[in-house]
Amino acid sequence: MHELALMQDLMACAGEIILQRHVTKVNRVFLSVGRFSNVLPDALQLAFESMTQDGVMKGAELEIGYFPASARCGACGREYAADGFPLGCPGCGSDDFMIISGEEVYLQRMECEVDDQDGQD
Ligand SMILES: [Zn+2]
Repeated sequence: MHELALMQDLMACAGEIILQRHVTKVNRVFLSVGRFSNVLPDALQLAFESMTQDGVMKGAELEIGYFPASARCGACGREYAADGFPLGCPGCGSDDFMIISGEEVYLQRMECEVDDQDGQD
């Protein structure tokens, strides 16, 4: 399952932050999901729940936000937001385009409780 592997990567990333910042508890995790990422939010949620059964992530909530995609025109080179259809270039009308972002999923931020001596951001 694509979402499970993805969530494992994101959790590894979160794990590093948790170690660095001396996080004692994670309350909420915010993910940014590209419009064209093809991930299923329900599957992400399930994967997240299966990985937050214990430890500092236990009981954490997952919040998923979306960001628009962008594309580059193969004909004129223009870069533009491709958040809706049609996806063709607004400059020259070409359908020869490449998606340059909007397929990725990343950890946007976490709401955490940290050890006092390290402060909070
Ligand atoms: Zn163009």
